[in-house]
Amino acid sequence: MSEQTKNTSRRTALKAGLAVIAGSSAVAVAGRAKAQSAKAAQSTVGYQAKPNNGQQCSTCTQFVAPNACQIVDGVIAPDAWCQLYSPKA
Ligand code: SF4
Repeated sequence: MSEQTKNTSRRTALKAGLAVIAGSSAVAVAGRAKAQSAKAAQSTVGYQAKPNNGQQCSTCTQFVAPNACQIVDGVIAPDAWCQLYSPKA
C-alpha cells in the first residue's frame, strides 16, 4: 500500500467517524428537545374537572381553546383547574 493510499484511507475513515459523531449528536439534541417539550401529567399538577375558587382553565394564560393546555398533557376542560393556574392579565 502506497503512502498516498494510506493517507486517503485515514482521511476517509476520519470523515466517516466525524459523520457518525455528528449524527449521534443530532439524535441526542433531538431527544433532549423532546424531553424538554414534554407536558406535565394531569395527575402531577392536581388537575381537577371543576373550577377552584373562581379560577379555571379558560382564564389561564396556558389554556389553548378549545380543550388543551400548553404545559399540561391531555384533554383540558375550559372549566377545569390545576395548581399551575396563571391568570390572564
Ligand atoms: S389551569 Fe392548569 S391545566 Fe388549566 S390551562 Fe392553566 S396550566 Fe393548563
